[in-house]
Amino acid sequence: MTGLLVVSLVSGVLMLLLSFYPKYHNDNRLFYYLPGVAEICVFVFLLYTFKKKHISVFTENISFVVFFCSLLCFCMYAYMVDRSPFVVRFLVMFLSFQIIFVMGLITSIAVNTIIVLLFFTANKYSSGIWWGILTNSIFDVYNIILSALICMTLNWYTTRVIVSGIISYNHDQLTGLNNRRSFEQSVNFYTSVCRHVHQTVCVVMMDVDFFKPYNDFYGHTKGDIVLQSIGRALKKLSEEDGLYVARVGGEEFIILWTENRLLEAERVVLKLRQKIIDLQIPHEKSLVAPCITASFGLYFMRGGSLDSREELYNHADIALYKAKEAGRNCIMLLDSSNYVCRLVELRQADKLVRR
Ligand code: GH3
Ligand code: MG
Ligand code: MG
Repeated sequence: MTGLLVVSLVSGVLMLLLSFYPKYHNDNRLFYYLPGVAEICVFVFLLYTFKKKHISVFTENISFVVFFCSLLCFCMYAYMVDRSPFVVRFLVMFLSFQIIFVMGLITSIAVNTIIVLLFFTANKYSSGIWWGILTNSIFDVYNIILSALICMTLNWYTTRVIVSGIISYNHDQLTGLNNRRSFEQSVNFYTSVCRHVHQTVCVVMMDVDFFKPYNDFYGHTKGDIVLQSIGRALKKLSEEDGLYVARVGGEEFIILWTENRLLEAERVVLKLRQKIIDLQIPHEKSLVAPCITASFGLYFMRGGSLDSREELYNHADIALYKAKEAGRNCIMLLDSSNYVCRLVELRQADKLVRR
């Protein structure tokens, strides 16, 4: 966070200094001031967020100010286009702000660099009306690239702060994973991918085994620590394997991803199961293992399946229920091709932990 503060302050000041770039003294000075001021605003609101340690309405307001400054620059550019080639950099800034929301930093940098290069090439080799504007003076491409990079970096940080504010509504306080609200919003994406793009969606419902006895024996606080450890393990795995993970109930988690190969899907769930065991959290009151374990219901929702989000949830829940019935610490697969449940075969190494 301190890094962000320094970056925003330095680039804000840099932008303001650039506004005094003495090469062209014309009436377009305002174009330089606005982004500089906008970036100073970014600095102020980052500082504010830093101190308050939470995202506020104020943060959002400032981000709108930044946004409208960019928009204003763009409109002025459109209006005064025949007078100044320099304003291209503000077009870049405006575009970067838009693109970054949709595509993220890397794509944004790539797209913006291409735009800058296009303008540069056009300036050199074309004499059309549009590009001719640029040939009136020397086109300062370095200036533009520098400004674009600074703007994009700042926009990225701004966006990240705003997005993390939005995200806090969708995140579970205890584990930091997505919460039920997030799941309900995200699941529609998966059902449509399955329905329209014919991708198989894997839905895993996971429930910690004998968690009530754990709480009763070790205490609720220890129970919470277990949930946090499980949360961390799931988060790590979700990053490695590109899974969507949410905590949807007390000790229930849901995991979503797309995978057309059944064996591969099973491998991921076996890995999930093993990760929980690898935490090696002692559980004296468990009847299946000396440590914390979980049961898994894997619903293999084949591409083209018309399941609604409730059906998706219910099918995974049925599979989980059967896994509990089958003795816990195991994986039950429900395949949408025939709606028959079967246990997923454990590998030799996985069997050793059974009590
Ligand atoms: P099973 O193997 O059948 O899942 O047994 P279980 O005891 O885990 O099942 P049950 O669903 O009856 O118990 C869930 C328990 O989870 C009840 C409650 O004590 C505990 N629990 C739910 N939410 C939390 C939480 O946020 N923190 C803690 N520490 N415990 C929780
Ligand atoms: Mg439960
Ligand atoms: Mg349980």
